[in-house]
Amino acid sequence: MPRKPIDQDTFMEDAKSTQKKKHMSASNMRLASHNKTRVAYFHDEGVGNYHYGERHPMKPHRLTLTNHLVLNYGLHNKMEIFQPRRATDDEILEFHASDYVDFLKRVTPDNAENYEQLFQRFNVGDDCPIFDGIYDFCQRYSGATIEAARKLIAGGADICINWSGGLHHAKKSEASGFCYVNDIVLGILEMLRYFPRVLYVDIDIHHGDGVQEAFYMTDRVMTVSFHKYNGDFFPGTGHLDEIGSSLGKYYSVNVPLRDGIDDNEYVWLFREVMNGVMDTFKPSAVVLQCGADSLGCDRLGVFNLSIKAHGRCVQIMKDYKVPMLVVGGGGYTVRNVARCWTYETSILVDQELNNDLPPNEYLGFFRPDYKLHPHLSGHVENQNDIQYLTKVRERVLEQLRYLDGAPSIQMQEIPPDIQGFLDGDEQLQDEEDDDTMDQRPQARKNRLVPETEWYESDDDNFGELGAVDMVM
Ligand SMILES: [Zn+2]
Repeated sequence: MPRKPIDQDTFMEDAKSTQKKKHMSASNMRLASHNKTRVAYFHDEGVGNYHYGERHPMKPHRLTLTNHLVLNYGLHNKMEIFQPRRATDDEILEFHASDYVDFLKRVTPDNAENYEQLFQRFNVGDDCPIFDGIYDFCQRYSGATIEAARKLIAGGADICINWSGGLHHAKKSEASGFCYVNDIVLGILEMLRYFPRVLYVDIDIHHGDGVQEAFYMTDRVMTVSFHKYNGDFFPGTGHLDEIGSSLGKYYSVNVPLRDGIDDNEYVWLFREVMNGVMDTFKPSAVVLQCGADSLGCDRLGVFNLSIKAHGRCVQIMKDYKVPMLVVGGGGYTVRNVARCWTYETSILVDQELNNDLPPNEYLGFFRPDYKLHPHLSGHVENQNDIQYLTKVRERVLEQLRYLDGAPSIQMQEIPPDIQGFLDGDEQLQDEEDDDTMDQRPQARKNRLVPETEWYESDDDNFGELGAVDMVM
C-alpha cells in the first residue's frame, strides 16, 4: 500500500525533512567545514541582447529582466558576482563536432543563403533560426557555465548560478529546441575532470534529451529529468524505459508526467525520486537545470506549477549540501521566468523576499499585480491521478534498486561517446608527465583517484583558479 501521497502538509513540510538525509561523502564534509553557503553568480551583461526573431518564443531579454530583479532586491549583496568570459572554440569542441561549430561561427542572417544546403543537416531553420551574433551568444552562455563549473572545482563556491545556461536540447552536431551549444554537457565534462560522479537534474517541462544522450553510456553521470511525456510533446523522448545502456545502464532516470500537474503532486514526486537518487548514486556534485516552462501559464508549457513549488525543488536540492551548479533553461512567459529565477536565487542565498516587486526600470513588465508570486495554477486540467504518479514513483525506485550502491571511485573510463574529451586528455597527459607534482585541477585532468584525496589540496586550488575570475 503506497503511503498517502501529495497532501498540502507534504508540500508545506519544512525543508528540514530533506536535511535529515545525510550523505556524508567527502563533498559534504567539505561543505560542513564552513557554515555559510557560498554562492557565486555568473551574469554576462550582454547575453540578454540577442534576438531569435520577433515571433520566436525564446527571448534572451528574460535574462536582463531576471538580473534587474536580482539586483533590485539586493541579492547581489549575498553572493559573489562574476562577469564570465566567453567559451573558446576549443572548449566548445570538447563536445561539439568541428563542422557544426564551424557552421555556427560563419553563418549570419546576411550570408545564410550560401549555407542553406547545411540547414537540414544541422537542424537550423524555424525552431533554431540563424540570428545576428548566434555563435557569440553561445560562447557567452557556455562560457558562464564552464566558469561556474571551474569555480566549484576550485572550491571557491558551494553553489554557482548561471541563468543564461541550461540549453539542454543541443546535440553534438545539431541544434535542437532553441539550443545550439549544450553548455550543460560542457559544464559536466569539466566537472568530471575532478568530481567522480555528477548528478544532472532537470525540471524543465521538456525532456533533457541532449544531456541524457551525451552521458547515456557512462555510470559517472546520472541524468534525472521530470517532464511532460506523451510520445508527441517535444522532443518526443523521455519514456520511463529510457534507462541508459552499457556502463550507463540504470543511470538515466526519466519521470514522465501528464498535463496539468499541480504543486503538491510535483513536489511530492520530486522529493521521493530525489531522495532515492541521492541515497543510491551519492553524487559528488550536482547540476540543476531550472527550466521555467514548467510553471503554470507558460506560453509553451502545460503544467500548473507555482513559482513557490518550482523553487521548492531548488530548496530540496540545496538541502542535500552537495556542490551545485544551477542553470536556467526554457521559460517563455518572460515576466514569470524573471520572477521564478529571482525567487530561486533568493532561496540559494537564504534571503526572504517581499512579494511586492522592488522599483526597477522594467516594472511595467510585471503589471498588473507587480508581485513576485502571481497566481499561476489551475489553468490546465490535471490529467495526473494518484494511481499514475504512484506507478511512476514505483518504477523509478525499482530502477534505482538495480544500482548496487555508488559505483567504485576507481572510475573505469570517461564517457565513451565524447571524442573531443578523449582527444583533449591525450594532450593533458603529456603536460602531466612534465609536471607530476602539480595538483591544480587543470594539470590533473586525466587522473581519477578517490575523492578524499582531491579535497586535501582545495585551498591551494582556490587561489589558482580564483585569479582568472573577474569581479564586477
Ligand atoms: Zn523546455
